[in-house]
Order: sequence, then structure tokens, then C-alpha cells
Amino acid sequence: MAQDRVETGTANSHELLCPSSRGTLEDSVLIGVVTSHTDGPRVVPTERPIPVTPEILAMAEPVGPSEVFRFASPCQSGKCPHFQNAACQLAVRGVKLLEAVDDELPKCSIRPYCRWFRQEGAAICKRCPQVVTDQFHPSETMVQIVYGIGPAPARAEVPPR
Ligand code: SF4
Repeated sequence: MAQDRVETGTANSHELLCPSSRGTLEDSVLIGVVTSHTDGPRVVPTERPIPVTPEILAMAEPVGPSEVFRFASPCQSGKCPHFQNAACQLAVRGVKLLEAVDDELPKCSIRPYCRWFRQEGAAICKRCPQVVTDQFHPSETMVQIVYGIGPAPARAEVPPR
């Protein structure tokens, strides 16, 4: 299972992880907890990737787990609607549209296996701590990052990640 191999550092380079996925019991690890900061949300990374359990998911109630936690799961590459032109467009647009919130590389327990880091390097890591996977009131910038330029499709039309 991918999470075991990430924990033990034996995952292969082709087993890249999406660092902003919805947590599932089968193949996700917890990598951060969302905290509030005067400038917006900030994700505090876990010391190590933690396999997702029902107890972890329940801790988020009454909100959804991906509103308060960051999870990593195997990158679906071509099966994911955000993956185009051989790249995760969330990471491409994140580097273009977000301001850096860290001067240095933030701590991270999955960096060697992270799709975003593999693709965009340190630039995306310096922006990553402000990313909350599911937001009820996302900023205009976050909407652009998720949906690209132009009007966002109705939520019901958005394929699941
Ligand atoms: S800090 Fe960098 S390596 Fe870690 S999850 Fe974010 S983009 Fe990936």
C-alpha cells in the first residue's frame, strides 16, 4: 500500500502523491492540520505521514475532513481532471497566482514523493501552507487555481478528485 511505503521511505519515484486530496481509509495519509493565521489559513505539517483512520476522520466533525486536514494520496495523473499537459495544473497555477508565505522550504513529511514538488520545486512548497483542500468560501484566486481562468463550473459538474 502506498502509505506504508511512504512511511518507510521505500516508495518509488513513480509513486507520486497528490498533496491536497480527500482523505480515504484505503490509501491516504494525513500530512497537515489547518490552523488560522492573521493572513489566512496555514497548514502545520505532521512530523510524519499518518495513515488515515476512522478516528482521524471523525475528529473533523462537524466539518468535512479536508476542510481542516491536508491529506496525500496517490496521484491519479491522467485520470484526474486537474492533470493536463503532463502536469498537475493546480500546482502550475498555484505558483503563478499565489504569493509565497514562506521564505524557506517548509517542513514536509512527503517531499520526496510529492507531485507538486517534483513538478514545481521549492516555488510551490513556499506557497503550499496556505492551501486548504475544501473551502466553503474560497477566494477568487483559489477558484482560479482550481478551475483555471474563466467562470467556475457549477459544483455538481466538477468531477471528484
Ligand atoms: S510543502 Fe512542498 S513537498 Fe510538501 S506537500 Fe506542499 S508542495 Fe508537496
